[in-house]
Amino acid sequence: MNVYDGARMSELLDAEGMTRVSEVEADLVVLNTCHIRERATEKVYSDVGRLRRDDGSTPMIAVAGCVAQAEGAEITRRAREVDIVVGPQAYHNLPALVAATAGGKRALDLDLPGLEKFGVLPKRPRQSGPTAFLTIQEGCDKFCTYCVVPYTRGSEISRSFNAILDEAKALVDGGAVEITLLGQNVNAWTDDRHGLDHLIRALDGIAGLKRIRYTTSHPNDMTDSLIRAHADVEKLMPFLHLPVQSGSDRVLKAMNRNHTTKSYHDVISRVYQARPDIAVSGDFIVGFPGETDAEFTETLQLVEHIGYAQAYSFKYSPRPGTPAATMAGQIAPEVMDERLQRLQAVINTQQNRFNDRFVDLEMPILLERKGRKVGQLIGKSPWLQSVHIANDAAQIGDMIAVRIESVGPNSLAGKPILKEPHVA
Ligand code: SAH
Ligand code: SF4
Repeated sequence: MNVYDGARMSELLDAEGMTRVSEVEADLVVLNTCHIRERATEKVYSDVGRLRRDDGSTPMIAVAGCVAQAEGAEITRRAREVDIVVGPQAYHNLPALVAATAGGKRALDLDLPGLEKFGVLPKRPRQSGPTAFLTIQEGCDKFCTYCVVPYTRGSEISRSFNAILDEAKALVDGGAVEITLLGQNVNAWTDDRHGLDHLIRALDGIAGLKRIRYTTSHPNDMTDSLIRAHADVEKLMPFLHLPVQSGSDRVLKAMNRNHTTKSYHDVISRVYQARPDIAVSGDFIVGFPGETDAEFTETLQLVEHIGYAQAYSFKYSPRPGTPAATMAGQIAPEVMDERLQRLQAVINTQQNRFNDRFVDLEMPILLERKGRKVGQLIGKSPWLQSVHIANDAAQIGDMIAVRIESVGPNSLAGKPILKEPHVA
């Protein structure tokens, strides 16, 4: 979502007549920040220091994003160089904030006005790459005890069906063939009558759009109708990022996740029934306060049982102001390190197992960018695997048939399949 926000801020400043230049030449530098885990705050202060130039001057500096929301005026107290502090729901006011700094004043906007920014930001650019992000839902009301999102992004709110469809059409007109719908709990999207599946089916009708994805979902919002969409909307890619966080029901309860390992297993088995080849992904937190060795082992067992195509795992990071930060039983860093390594080893094994079964198979690859090697292009499979190919005649934005030849730690490699010339 920060990538999406960054793009929209950049489009907004373009519309103000600003031009993108390198950091050393810039009159204004916007630091867009994330507060989900450790060190983001310290990084802001070191980044601000790094912007100081040889002659001692600094550009105008705006700190945006969730660190801005969480730290507020504290940022300008600790870093005198910072001129603007703007939260994730207020960045449409950047031009006004820039104007308000005239005469060396500081400008702060930490309002959480819900959807206001979407009505004010300029229309999406006429030119976009083959893949695009589209925020459809923001904020969260679930209040997991470790998480800052409900505080920094505000309460759960869905953009309107029409606004989303218009933005999707503009992206497709600009060249996007794949759209990833974004939200902190994207599958909680609603227009008060329908859920995310309704939106996906509407996007399915946009000619020129070839692939639809969505992220991140919450297990409790995985409705039957959304699962059904995975069975019958061809453009909806066979990939589901569904974080579970822990394999221990006691830890899930302490996390206030409001789901159990059983309800998670049930959802996943319904998803597999609808779309047997689906790639399942997840998020895990190790070392939540009070997590015992036995409870961590339950997480390893859950992973073994589900069979992930990929997954992200994090050490628990106490976030100021969240209930878990002051819970008893904070886990020692070396214990967290050891658990993280063990979990990642299991996840890596599963990822390799998932990828290995694609060797010698043919699949459509959407080419997204150039690779490091001369002539190499990198694209994505329907299952979100990165696939490297040697470039024959294809170019970025093409969807081509590729036969997979080998599997590396984080990507697959393959060859374009040359179709027989058509004989009339
Ligand atoms: N809404 C999504 C996740 C959004 S945050 C969900 O509920 O699944 C993205 C991921 O960051 C989370 O899934 C979690 O694994 C991780 N995360 C959030 N807060 C964290 C914390 N305090 N310490 C470590 N990881 C955290
Ligand atoms: Fe954070 Fe996700 Fe929990 Fe919301 S549901 S509080 S975003 S982890």
